[in-house]
Amino acid sequence: MVSRALLAAAGSGGVRRVLATAPGTREVLRRFVAGETAEDALRAGDRLAGEGLLATYDMLGEDAGDRARADAATRGHLDLLARIGARGLGPRAEASLKLTALGQELDEDLALANARRICAAARDAGTAVTLDAEGPATVASTLRILRELRRDFPGTGAVVQAYLRRAEELCAELAFEGSRVRLCKGAYAAPEEVAFTGREDVDRSYVRCLKVLMTGAGHPMVATHDPRLIEIAGALARLHDRDADTFEYQLLYGVRPNEQRRLAAEGARVRVYVAYGTQWYGYFMRRLAERPAGLAAVLRSAATR
Ligand code: FAD
Repeated sequence: MVSRALLAAAGSGGVRRVLATAPGTREVLRRFVAGETAEDALRAGDRLAGEGLLATYDMLGEDAGDRARADAATRGHLDLLARIGARGLGPRAEASLKLTALGQELDEDLALANARRICAAARDAGTAVTLDAEGPATVASTLRILRELRRDFPGTGAVVQAYLRRAEELCAELAFEGSRVRLCKGAYAAPEEVAFTGREDVDRSYVRCLKVLMTGAGHPMVATHDPRLIEIAGALARLHDRDADTFEYQLLYGVRPNEQRRLAAEGARVRVYVAYGTQWYGYFMRRLAERPAGLAAVLRSAATR
């Protein structure tokens, strides 16, 4: 209930203004967001690398609204990838892209053209991009753009949200050799017609998807903090004789850092999703929706300001 209200509030300008100035917001943000600039994020990535962890960088921002903002987001991603290239990080550092930040909702071709430039920059830097999955209205368009991009940039990663009723079918379509597929539960508000809404149904769908991806020939990217699902993913990988470098775990920056290190110490590939930038609002609200307990601190600080 609280989670649904938080996801609805993610679109509210009023809530945004209150939260932007609440001291508690800054505290929670510092935990989940690696800083405002690409350099801040790369420094966080260096620290993670010291612990044996890989990174995917997410320059925060979504729903461009107009072409100028879509262009600015594109330039931001190009700048990040130039820095990754200059540091010679290669595939240890990849980028996660939100197509709505590149203008997807204004014009699909514009988003595709912007994403192409970013994928080319990733290739020049010796790495690749993963297309984040966003709200249910964008799923079909994102899959079309993915297919186009993969013609020239086959390493482009896909994301499947297990809460989608079609998730298992999507995994089956995407589980082919060379196909990198991130499996997550799904973070956006979604109606019952297209998505499972009960926790257990989502978890069961996640396990069905894991089975498809782990038996397939692609490169599964297991994006969850859920201890039970992490354990099941490991068991399935062993059952199907997967080498550690044929799949990876992915966790968010600031979430279960001990678990990130534990998995890496066991020899697993672990990639941390490092969010950075000033457009933090939507990301922040989705994290609060997942752990509403964090909301209490933010609201207390807003009320006592
Ligand atoms: P939850 O159901 O949130 O939690 C299950 C259990 O995990 C909890 O009971 C607890 O034991 C443990 N846990 C969870 N959070 C914490 C915490 N903060 N501290 C301690 N224990 C915790 N969503 C999208 O819609 N599109 C995307 O492209 C996308 N990309 C993602 C990329 C990565 C790398 C990750 C990790 C998530 C991504 N998500 C994305 C978000 C995802 O869909 C979920 O909303 C989010 O991961 C929360 O689900 P969960 O699997 O961690 O399990």
